[in-house]
Amino acid sequence: MAALDIVRIPVLSDNYVWLVHDPESGATMVVDPAVADPVLAAAAERGWTITDIWNTHWHPDHTGGNAAIKAATGCTIAGPAAEIERIPTLDVQLRGGDRVRIGNHSADVWDVPAHTAGHIAYHFADDAAIFVGDTMFAMGCGRLFEGTADQMFANMQKLGTLDDATRVYCAHEYTLSNARFAVTVDPGNAALADRLIAVESARAAGEATVPTSIGLERATNPFLRADSATELGRIRALKDAA
Ligand code: ZN
Ligand code: FE
Repeated sequence: MAALDIVRIPVLSDNYVWLVHDPESGATMVVDPAVADPVLAAAAERGWTITDIWNTHWHPDHTGGNAAIKAATGCTIAGPAAEIERIPTLDVQLRGGDRVRIGNHSADVWDVPAHTAGHIAYHFADDAAIFVGDTMFAMGCGRLFEGTADQMFANMQKLGTLDDATRVYCAHEYTLSNARFAVTVDPGNAALADRLIAVESARAAGEATVPTSIGLERATNPFLRADSATELGRIRALKDAA
């Protein structure tokens, strides 16, 4: 099985849209198209035609390109069943435990409610990759707009079961702000201090800092490292106020 080709498309102020291509079948999927034109252009540049869109949650910066990409390509749009009323463009309604395919590669759908009530993630176990939308960020987690610290803690625990090598594709470049906050709540963490320095120089050079990996997050992400929902909620509230 040929490896998936995964392309990062920076759009809006800090969103990343992910283009996922299976070279064997020619299938091309987009995760969370905030907008259409840069995504269609990135696919066209490579001679790819978008066959599928997978949404993680209803927020407009994750679904705004759905209709125009579908109009241009005839692709199929899949996303969380629980958010069908907020994502009227959905063709396929997904629930945790479902399995979805892109060409010869399959992904397990995870329910990860908290940022939104119906938020889902897509785990390609054989490819050691997970698309988490706004659930986990490099050294951060999503805001608790429609859920609780208990739910986000459960999400972090589940992500923590993955191997260190699993790459984590999140939807925003929030890394520098997250790192600066993380060192304030975990000041004794040498790996985190080192990562802040690395991220500062990467961002100063205009480089992207994602995907990240479960191993890196296990060492440096205060939300993944929190030992209780209470602790996660406490640091989430501090970050919200920062
Ligand atoms: Zn969001
Ligand atoms: Fe977002």
